[in-house]
Amino acid sequence: MKFILATHNMKKCAEMQRILAPLGVEVFTAEMLGFELTDAEETGETFEENAYIKAKSGCYESSYPCIADDSGLCVDALGGEPGVYSARYSGGHGDDEANITKLLEKLKDVPNEKRTAHFTSAICVCFPDGREIRLEGRCEGKIGFEKKGNGGFGYDPIFMVGEKSFAELTAEEKDKISHRGNALRKLVEVLPEYLRA
Ligand code: IMP
Repeated sequence: MKFILATHNMKKCAEMQRILAPLGVEVFTAEMLGFELTDAEETGETFEENAYIKAKSGCYESSYPCIADDSGLCVDALGGEPGVYSARYSGGHGDDEANITKLLEKLKDVPNEKRTAHFTSAICVCFPDGREIRLEGRCEGKIGFEKKGNGGFGYDPIFMVGEKSFAELTAEEKDKISHRGNALRKLVEVLPEYLRA
């Protein structure tokens, strides 16, 4: 079965492919199959709503099962910021450097023990026959004081789990503990019954 991933984020696409391929599900972006999807506006106020908006509109336009992730970072000392605005925290969409700089600046007087945070990933799958799956995964950690490591994307260099940042983990190590890994493992449990039907 082919799933279309309603995002341009190739790192997320690779993460999904790694975890879903063993189930016989191939994940493609629309571009990889030779067409384009309209970018659905992320007008939701929760990760779950935004994932649903993206998957539903992708499925409607393409008639393929469509999978979408809306994910981001929630920092306790900032009352949950950047939250659903993670990708647009510093204005624009996806300027990782600027987003990290803004977050570190806001946290500069916050001591280590108060720098707790979590990543969350809401995943939604919409099928052309109207069925849908929604689920969420989390990963708890802390925001560091400076960037560490060159892997991953987004806030990975400042998101610490124990002594290491997400950007210091290999892809496989990150999948084992990450919010998206946790969400996708829940998906792997329920997906077979949807693929049989
Ligand atoms: P989206 O592309 O609108 O879904 O926004 C997701 C944003 O949240 C990304 O651009 C990153 O800023 C952040 N984010 C989500 N997942 C991760 C991750 O695994 N590592 C680092 N940042 C992430």
